[in-house]
Amino acid sequence: METGDLDDLYGDPILDHRRHPRNSDVVEDPDVAGRAVNPFCGDEVDVQISLDAGRAARIGVQSEGCSINQATASMMSERISGKSIEEIEVLSNLFHRLMDGEQLSDEELGTLGELQSLVGVRRYPVRIKCALLSWSGLEEAIEKHRVAQHA
Ligand code: ZN
Repeated sequence: METGDLDDLYGDPILDHRRHPRNSDVVEDPDVAGRAVNPFCGDEVDVQISLDAGRAARIGVQSEGCSINQATASMMSERISGKSIEEIEVLSNLFHRLMDGEQLSDEELGTLGELQSLVGVRRYPVRIKCALLSWSGLEEAIEKHRVAQHA
């Protein structure tokens, strides 16, 4: 793959989040925490959420690696703010469907907000994993939270 092709992916929101990652401070004593790694391009994501009345009150997402991973992590951290676990799972599902090449409704795209700017990643199948890594970390975190609750 030529670098030039990849540059096309990096529209304004992606570059902005890459340069100014949101919610990158580690949340201490989180209710929900997970981690995901993609050795292909050295991508790593750590996710922490502390819940208040069942909603994501404080969010920490630390990412390393390629721009797609870092931008997605930052956008995800903003989008899940204030959401319940169930709402976060809806977002995750919508984002996976977007990356799978599905045509989402205007309402669904609205729910994704800025995350829909990553749609161009679909043209580079090998990069889709980079865009999904943050969500993997988040899903792992939610799964561990569920298990802990039902223990
Ligand atoms: Zn990557």
